[in-house]
Amino acid sequence: MDGQSLNEQAEISDLRGSLDELDSAIVRLIAQRREVIAAVAKAKERGSATIQDAERERHIIESVQAQATELGVSPSLVRRIFRELLNDSIALQTSHLTGDAGGRMRVAFQGVTHAYSYAASQKYLNGYGIEGDLTGYRTFRQAAAALLSGDADLAILPIENTTAGSINEVYALLREHDLFIVGEETWKVEHCLAAVADIPPSGLSKILSHPQGLEQCAQFLAALPNATAVPSFDTAGAMQSVAESGDPSIAAIGSLEAAAEYGLVVLCRNISDSSDNYTRFVVLCRSATPVDLRIPCKTSLILVTRHEEGALLRCLEILAGSGHSMTKLESRPRPGMPWEYLFFVDFEGNAADPRTVAALDELRSAALYIKVLGSYPAKVLREPARAGELPVPPESESAVEMLEAVAAAPPAAPRRSSHYKLVDRTARQNDTVVRVGDVLVGGDGFVVMAGPCSVESEDQIISTARLVRDHGAHVLRGGVFKPRTSPYSFQGLGWPGLDLLVKAGRETGLPIVTEVMATGQVHRMAEAADILQVGARNMQNFDLLRELGKVDRPVLLKRGLSSTIEEWLAAAEYVVAHGNQQVILCERGIRTFESATRNTLDLSAIAVVRERSHLPIIIDPSHGTGFRSYVAPMAWAARAAGAHGLLIEVHPTPEQALSDADQSLSPAEFAHLMHHLAKVPQGPVRRPAAAADQRAEAMPASARLAAHH
Ligand code: PEP
Ligand code: MN
Repeated sequence: MDGQSLNEQAEISDLRGSLDELDSAIVRLIAQRREVIAAVAKAKERGSATIQDAERERHIIESVQAQATELGVSPSLVRRIFRELLNDSIALQTSHLTGDAGGRMRVAFQGVTHAYSYAASQKYLNGYGIEGDLTGYRTFRQAAAALLSGDADLAILPIENTTAGSINEVYALLREHDLFIVGEETWKVEHCLAAVADIPPSGLSKILSHPQGLEQCAQFLAALPNATAVPSFDTAGAMQSVAESGDPSIAAIGSLEAAAEYGLVVLCRNISDSSDNYTRFVVLCRSATPVDLRIPCKTSLILVTRHEEGALLRCLEILAGSGHSMTKLESRPRPGMPWEYLFFVDFEGNAADPRTVAALDELRSAALYIKVLGSYPAKVLREPARAGELPVPPESESAVEMLEAVAAAPPAAPRRSSHYKLVDRTARQNDTVVRVGDVLVGGDGFVVMAGPCSVESEDQIISTARLVRDHGAHVLRGGVFKPRTSPYSFQGLGWPGLDLLVKAGRETGLPIVTEVMATGQVHRMAEAADILQVGARNMQNFDLLRELGKVDRPVLLKRGLSSTIEEWLAAAEYVVAHGNQQVILCERGIRTFESATRNTLDLSAIAVVRERSHLPIIIDPSHGTGFRSYVAPMAWAARAAGAHGLLIEVHPTPEQALSDADQSLSPAEFAHLMHHLAKVPQGPVRRPAAAADQRAEAMPASARLAAHH
């Protein structure tokens, strides 16, 4: 070895030493954080304060994300780490309240050491500070049998996966036996493909895994036509078989830990169809355990409805009417009774709470059969969404009342169109609110979607994403398929551009919106984008609208260049009538005789649409005017007029933009727009009471009832 590489080695080993020190400091800080949590839990033992406070959690996540941004660290990385820390702290506080910190438990799981079930069981026990003797069984049924016979104190079994769905066999066990749920746990599944030697996956003849593992990687497997998928009883067991066979043409799908444990070479990482692949486990016991009322709980039950019309609805109304929000409803066949079903219901509630007791009693009389499977501390609650908020302006002024006072009642008999009925205001008194990532579009918030006209390069989109996020935007825009007037103009980067946009969204934690131009693009686009935009030129592409009605993704429907509001709402009706209710309207200017601006921005459309429809409406002042100097005034006016948000084009160097250079804001101009935006009073968000009552009268009785809840 020459002198230079010796030097290099010494330097690297020094740096590694520093890393080791930092890692150990991180672990010590986590331990210190847990000590403080334990003290908090002690303080709470004396009071009635609940241990999970969504406001406080959001505050923590927001401030660490802000700090990360300042330090140039990916906020989404920091967010993920802190979500785990917060979950751990809830488990820790829970164990203080239930008094079961410490102790030793015999736990049955399915599979062998290093299977996902093993990892999840460890995570659950660690959270409560319990020592466990873990025993793996070949099947779910055998693990349950060990619990029932008293060979184990708990059985921890998977119940659902976010990619592959419910695990029917575990539901069957819950139905057949006296088993109760006392807890739940989640595990992020990160599948890899591993073999004894580093050979290209195309040379494999067999791939072994648990059927769930094979199902979760179906797309990956479909791309390897030479390999046969072979189900085995366990992912880690599959790794073990591959290692024992020594055959380089066989590979297994399982965790990185299992691959390492059996000395295999990892051929591909992250091969699940969905990158966010989680499994939820239930912790089973022979008896139910009451849980302290201060712990956020879920309750699970099995329900058989009466043979009457609307029987399931009546049962669900009992839950909803008593303020219990349902988190899961699973229907399974009733064995021996063809075409009859029983339901597994999970809802937020605690069977020790008198309110829940009353609801369960009412359910018993409404249903044919009920088995309460237990109440247990909730680990999986949907992350709360927030209304779009703007950065706080320097000094607050309030002119909202003024704007509300000028909001006059709409005409007594609202004009009705025969071209649309579902998007008509009379069909729904409440505004439609569309969830995008963790932001709500519609209702009282104000959402800013910003980014370049077109995605041009990785640098361009990532720097724009950071910029718009730092100034308070909620969603990142960027076109990858561009509808251009001239076939000789830049047409967009296509699918590779979408990959860059996805990357920028991930790095900044912003959801993304991009235009879909053809029916054939819809499904692939829906997998990657958070909102699918229909451009002005495609507003009446009815095949495209129908296709968008079939996907479960919000649609941003731009108003056509020469379309009336009536035609626009009828176009929205196409999407809604085909099943997808998540439509956001976007006014982007229309063709008039005026030529001073690129289009004439029709701000009156805001008032008209809000009166006639329940759908949210946002404004695009960039395409609406065509010139950057007009963008900010129109954006502010849109907020005052009652729009639910904005779509704005921003470019790091507008003069070099490959499309829509004249109307794209520079970073400084965007900062200026955002800085003053919150000072503009938000237009009439609440509708005059008298008008709302009139509409309520026009609604069917059932809708009126729902509106009062
Ligand atoms: C765009 O948003 O970049 C776009 C092409 O918009 P429009 O369809 O409104 O012209
Ligand atoms: Mn554009």
